[in-house]
Amino acid sequence: MMAKRRPLIAGNWKMFKTGPEAAELAGQLKVLVSDIADVDVLVAPAFTAISVVAETLKGSAIEVGGQDLFWETEGAYTGQVSAPMLKAAGCSHVIVGHSERRQYFGETNGTVNRKINIALKGDLIPILCVGESDAEREAQETFLVVKEHLDKGLEGIDGDGLAKLIIAYEPVWAIGTGKTATAEQAQEVHRFIRDWMEKAGGNSIAKALRILYGGSVKPGNIAGLMAMEDIDGALVGGASLDAESFAGIVRGSLGVAQ
Ligand code: PEP
Repeated sequence: MMAKRRPLIAGNWKMFKTGPEAAELAGQLKVLVSDIADVDVLVAPAFTAISVVAETLKGSAIEVGGQDLFWETEGAYTGQVSAPMLKAAGCSHVIVGHSERRQYFGETNGTVNRKINIALKGDLIPILCVGESDAEREAQETFLVVKEHLDKGLEGIDGDGLAKLIIAYEPVWAIGTGKTATAEQAQEVHRFIRDWMEKAGGNSIAKALRILYGGSVKPGNIAGLMAMEDIDGALVGGASLDAESFAGIVRGSLGVAQ
């Protein structure tokens, strides 16, 4: 059965593309997806490229997100970027708790929780990333880890906040490795996340929640993933850095063969 929620395909450009390079990529993408009306599309450039990308995408439906934010609104926090700064630069969304932040930059479920709170307060839609490592999957701890990411990352977030949220299931072992979770492996975790949300926020919030899959998504595997009932889109890393391949994923999310 096809998912009933409106698909979202989000590109995480990570620490790639200078401002001029990002503007060029955004310009290409704007042309390539201009005829696609039934999918929401978002790109998350590096902080230094957000303004120029937002400017380039004016007049298109493609939205812009940050890759991270800090949990205070302003202050003496050298190197940090706040929700109002992202908002003013043209962001509507922000990725929170990406596994690379957890792995290399000391992100914990506690800091994720603070960031989700400040994002919501700043009128940014958080895309919360959850997912297990290879060792955790091997140890059959996938559901335990995902539950902890949700329980702690979303602790104290009320129904209004939960209703705005997007969740990305990103098994760490599938990120940038070329190993994609099978559609069935992804579906069972997506269902688990939707069930968690039903308990936390109630039936209608759970039903409307968009849950993205992330981990080596490509034009050739998106349709199989999207055919699953609880997969509502994708968070794409590597393949979002090439306009043709990202546009292929956007198109493929509607079940158009690539
Ligand atoms: C990501 O970093 O969110 C991601 C899914 O990366 P990739 O598509 O390269 O696996």
